[in-house]
Amino acid sequence: MTKTKGLLIKGYNGFYYVKAENKLWSCSLRGRFRLTKQKFLPGDVVMFTEIEFPKGVIEEVLPRKNQLVRPSIANVEQAVITFALTAPNPDFLLLDRILVQVLEKEITPIICFNKADLVSEEERIKLISPYEKSGFTVICVSAETGSGIEALKKQIEGHLVVLAGPSGVGKSSILNALNSEFHLETGELSKKVERGKHTTRKVELLPLDEITYIADTPGFSTLFLPDGIEKNTLVHYYPEIFEAAHNCPFKSCMHHKERDCAVKDGVEKGLIDKGRYERYCILFEELKEREGKY
Ligand code: GDP
Ligand code: ZN
Repeated sequence: MTKTKGLLIKGYNGFYYVKAENKLWSCSLRGRFRLTKQKFLPGDVVMFTEIEFPKGVIEEVLPRKNQLVRPSIANVEQAVITFALTAPNPDFLLLDRILVQVLEKEITPIICFNKADLVSEEERIKLISPYEKSGFTVICVSAETGSGIEALKKQIEGHLVVLAGPSGVGKSSILNALNSEFHLETGELSKKVERGKHTTRKVELLPLDEITYIADTPGFSTLFLPDGIEKNTLVHYYPEIFEAAHNCPFKSCMHHKERDCAVKDGVEKGLIDKGRYERYCILFEELKEREGKY
């Protein structure tokens, strides 16, 4: 029998929903998978046998590009890291932490600042420019007025995307603005009640259009830096610091306590954002302490 390639959207009660050529199949697993430790995750590209629509049987999972945990999602291509420009004020240290986690998984970060309707143009530019200068893609939106939503849509089109960021910044509102059919609950209170109801939350890929999917939960722990990152490699996650580091006189320079350092020079001359550099130092210290414990 011929096998069909599809995208696993969600698993539920032993069934797996697989999208292929715009049809949603309800698949079971070949018996042998119950014996192996093979897991099937939203985002997996699978080969399945068509039995009779909508019934199919999953035969094989194609190799994953990456995998996020808690909740598990496979093959994420982009992360829309969302913060509000105000209400609440952006927590840039948290933004940098999430950036590190996203880049470590080889996921393309899109930094999205919401609530553009609440700040002046001047304020907005001040807040976002350190990240634009670092070379990241930054998009300002307002879920409220709809400004910037088309630009965001264009940016994520055709990809498997997660929306990361703290609560209250407007993630659900942005999803609703991206697709008016989503009808996600917004505002703190309603969601807290909702969360209490289902303790084991399952991930689901929401179809934004025929080629774009958004996971409804981000799959990033917000605080911990991945085990794969060491103090010596942290600089790879700060593109502007990495670039300036080529001019440090000592190859072993960590751009931290050293006296002669091109990065610190750049900060003093205003070429590198001071806030970004300070956060690099905070994360550096944190990694140093972690490594000291081994
Ligand atoms: P989430 O917790 O990140 O999913 O945030 P929500 O989507 O629930 O939004 C949190 C609060 O911010 C709600 O009261 C929204 O109405 C409000 N909000 C969301 N987006 C905007 C925006 O663009 N402008 C303004 N002024 N408020 C917004
Ligand atoms: Zn240096």
